[in-house]
Amino acid sequence: MSYDFDLFVIGAGSGGIATARRAAEYGARVGIAEYDRLGGTCVNRGCVPKKLMVYASHFPDVFEEAQGYGWSAVQSSLNWETMITAVNNEVDRLNGIYQKMLDGSKVELFRSHAKFVDPHTIDLGDQKVTADKVLIAVGGKPFLPNILGIEHAITSDDIFHLKEQPKRMVILGGGYIGCEFACILNGMGTEVTQIIRGDRILRGFDEDIRSEIQQGMINHGINIIKGVQLIAIEKSEHGVVVSVGAGDTADTVIADAVSLAAVGRKPNTHNLGLENTGVKCRDGAVLVDEYSHTFEENIYAVGDCTNKINLTPVAINEGRAFADTVFGGIPRVMSYENVPTAVFTTPEAATVGLTEAEAKEKYGDDLKIFYTRFRPMYYTLAGKDEKTMMKLIVHASSDKVIGAHMVGPSAAEIVQGVAIALKTGATKANFDATVGIHPSSAEEFVTMRSPVR
Ligand code: NDP
Repeated sequence: MSYDFDLFVIGAGSGGIATARRAAEYGARVGIAEYDRLGGTCVNRGCVPKKLMVYASHFPDVFEEAQGYGWSAVQSSLNWETMITAVNNEVDRLNGIYQKMLDGSKVELFRSHAKFVDPHTIDLGDQKVTADKVLIAVGGKPFLPNILGIEHAITSDDIFHLKEQPKRMVILGGGYIGCEFACILNGMGTEVTQIIRGDRILRGFDEDIRSEIQQGMINHGINIIKGVQLIAIEKSEHGVVVSVGAGDTADTVIADAVSLAAVGRKPNTHNLGLENTGVKCRDGAVLVDEYSHTFEENIYAVGDCTNKINLTPVAINEGRAFADTVFGGIPRVMSYENVPTAVFTTPEAATVGLTEAEAKEKYGDDLKIFYTRFRPMYYTLAGKDEKTMMKLIVHASSDKVIGAHMVGPSAAEIVQGVAIALKTGATKANFDATVGIHPSSAEEFVTMRSPVR
């Protein structure tokens, strides 16, 4: 049977576009459908505009710190509209680049919502196309908890389009998104209250990292309310009133105009016609094997819609591994070991490998933990008591470094390099034999000598 396409990709986000282009490079006839802007969450509503806003949020601190170096005080205020416009203009520019990349790679783009009619046939609204293989790369979307008045909350998708800077913002959730936006808005001068149901932010990260970031965020002025459940959100003449409760007690927090719900994301797999295929899902996430293969013979899925590790570079790697395997004749799988990640809070954090708790579960007491906490040189003249923290987890018998964690300026830039060492199986002796770059914070990763436990 002949098909219109060798591969049809549903969703032109980071994973979908990378896969489409790689398959086309191998000579496959590729189509891709996207009803929204090109680039998906990362480019339009995630990593890129978020990071630009992180940069914007750092200037007040820098202006203050400059005075310790002899610069006169700076009187400056943020024009929110100018900042948001600049951020969105950059997103537009990137959309254009994605369009050019697709044009240049001869991938045919359909500006439509795609739905399976059967495993090989896709309904695009005004036409149907057929494909030998189909890749689902539809990403995820914010999840809104079922509480009274949730319609008064915005999600991280909306924050990039707020017309005015909120004076007071309540943020629900202590994950990546909640913490990053708490820090962004706080840095820009918004009074931020963050509500978490546990006792600490960023569940899943190393405990020392969680404590260090949380204390750093509090030191920077964020009010974190811990151990409470969300009860309701109401609109009042004073703003948005968020009611929270712990046990029998209830309390309220007032936000200016909006509260941000950042309590997780869900795979975007509804209304795809998956019931017309053999694809199986759990909690909305497409079930795949190590080759990104679904339960349907010709259908594959990558990225956030599979809800494995929801990071852009992971989606891209999964997609390219699929294209190499199926269209390039180079069978390979994505490796989920030692995937580094960063949280762009203030202070910033980055991590690769096992947390101490994970390492303990795997290796018991056969571990050595190296830990350092110091004031980076930059803050000495700036007169601030900001701290950087680094931690290495070493498997004692083999001497292999199995976890590296950092909180402090440039953590993402530094840990990216350390991740190469972990990926290649570096030992603590290899770290010790590496000459440090002096003076830098990064050199501490190769100069920690005595284990703390
Ligand atoms: P996360 O899963 O990281 O965090 C969700 C947070 O919401 C947790 O603190 C959780 O609390 C809390 N929560 C969940 N349900 C409820 C509820 N019913 N009531 C109150 N609190 C609740 O989700 P995010 O939305 O922050 O981020 C989604 C994903 O996006 C991340 O996992 C990450 O993969 C990706 N991302 C990556 C970034 C990066 O690389 N820098 C940046 C942003 C997003 P608890 O801990 O108690 O469960």
